[in-house]
Amino acid sequence: VSQLDDLPPLRDVIAAHGLAALKSLGQNFLLDLNLTSRIARASGDLTNSIVYEVGPGPGGLTRGLLVNGAKRVVAVEQDRRALDALAEISAASDGRLTIIQGDALKANELALIGDPQGADIRIAANLPYNIGTALLLKWLTVEPWLPWYKSMTLMFQKEVGQRIVAEPGSKAYGRLSVISQFRCHTRIHFDVAPQAFVPAPKVTSCVVGLIPKPAPENAPSIKALEATTAAAFGQRRKMLRASLKTLVSDPLSLLEEAAIIPTKRAEELTLDDFCRLAKAYQRASA
Ligand code: SAM
Repeated sequence: VSQLDDLPPLRDVIAAHGLAALKSLGQNFLLDLNLTSRIARASGDLTNSIVYEVGPGPGGLTRGLLVNGAKRVVAVEQDRRALDALAEISAASDGRLTIIQGDALKANELALIGDPQGADIRIAANLPYNIGTALLLKWLTVEPWLPWYKSMTLMFQKEVGQRIVAEPGSKAYGRLSVISQFRCHTRIHFDVAPQAFVPAPKVTSCVVGLIPKPAPENAPSIKALEATTAAAFGQRRKMLRASLKTLVSDPLSLLEEAAIIPTKRAEELTLDDFCRLAKAYQRASA
């Protein structure tokens, strides 16, 4: 840990390696190591964990994860400019940090991690905002379920975090809420002000925790749930008897089988309602 403490401040790392933030890569860097340690601690006890990190950039969160005792960190970064800075962290980490250059959307995480040798795998990231939800959906829809990771601790724009944890009847409630809560226990750990980032984004961010939970009894397939929520929320102001026409030719019989009142709208349905609806759709399309 002492060698990690000797690394230069992140502001100097960014200057020394010419890491001017690129909008195209969704780069908003965290400079405060107290904050990145706090995010690392929100991931739980890391001493028997391998942390898979997307987008380490200059390495603020990476350093937080290592200082907080992560057994290993495996990080995927697309920006080649950051690789030298990350190599310095790797050198100071007793071989605990592995950096892979590439696109996290295409990554085969388990192949990159290799044999976990009995350790848990956790995901932690300050995600690039332009692909944040795509990455979350990638991890929520892995098969088989339960997945290969034990938790996800992810920074999103606050508006996205609110969608993940939203309850039925609220404005933020939608596809992302249903899919996230079908798969995981979800919570918002804390908000992060725009000023914590360089450059400062326009909006507040938040750190979200997601812990995978077993599929409920009689659960639909994730594909059926995705198709059903896409149709229902695709036209969220319409009653389900109308909006589900994009899914099936006869929404009324589907709704009857799922015991859902046809004049309801998508945002009124609970997770349980969506599971019954998706299961009925799955049977009808089999
Ligand atoms: N973890 C750093 C921090 O907290 O300061 C940087 C976070 S920044 C919001 C997002 C990072 O993701 C950037 O370093 C960016 O280059 C990287 N990134 C963007 N798209 C990526 C992709 N498709 N695959 C891997 N990394 C990506």
